[in-house]
Amino acid sequence: TEEVLRRSEKLSVVGQLAAGVAHEIRNPLQTLKGFVQLNKSKGTLNEGHLDIMLSELDRINFIVSEFLVLAKPQVTSIQPIDIRETVNSLIVLLDSQAHLNSIEFETAFEAELPQVMGEPNQLKQVFLNIMKNAMEAMQDGGTIRIEIAKGDDKGQVVIRFIDQGVGMTEEELQRIGEPFFTNKETGTGLGLMVCQQIVANHKGKLNFYSQLGEGTTVEVILGSNYKEA
Ligand code: ADP
Ligand code: MG
Repeated sequence: TEEVLRRSEKLSVVGQLAAGVAHEIRNPLQTLKGFVQLNKSKGTLNEGHLDIMLSELDRINFIVSEFLVLAKPQVTSIQPIDIRETVNSLIVLLDSQAHLNSIEFETAFEAELPQVMGEPNQLKQVFLNIMKNAMEAMQDGGTIRIEIAKGDDKGQVVIRFIDQGVGMTEEELQRIGEPFFTNKETGTGLGLMVCQQIVANHKGKLNFYSQLGEGTTVEVILGSNYKEA
């Protein structure tokens, strides 16, 4: 019965999300329709219009991709993962963009770490979303410190992303993971919901600590106890 319960909870989250996604997609679609109509009646689409159309299409694509991560049955290629490698590969991926924004990554990885059981691409997605949020919170630059250490329980690994960004109020902190909660002009407010879903699938924990104007720490706790949902 636990299994059945979990499944129906999942469905309702997806159902909720679908309504939100539809809503979020209607705006860019409206813009696109407007431009097509303009071109039909006046034939005046210029380079600027096309750029806007492209970015609206990108936005739709992005929202749908994030939604699919949540709605799709989970692809399960569960395997032992060295989290240090995963995090390092993401640092390489984000480094040049970070430098452009005067952001530096600093790492402190414990030497002897157990491997965790997980789906590599999904865990990458989790860390990527957290790291992007950290970067977006540091408009004036700074250091993002990433710590990886053994957890309290056997086989556990704790990954901490510590930024020096804008931080969050108590109210914002409460709303973390709520679909479409975003403070960003072009945010979707889906990133952390995706993270929560994936970490929950991994029987892990996701904790947020934040101080307005000081920064935010996001803590992911993973273990070796992944079970297929
Ligand atoms: P998005 O990034 O599209 O806004 P997320 O789900 O990733 O959606 O994040 C939701 C909101 O949580 C953000 O808009 C921001 O207000 C807040 N947030 C998340 N991470 C951080 C962080 N590291 N520092 C400050 N605020 C954050
Ligand atoms: Mg985000």
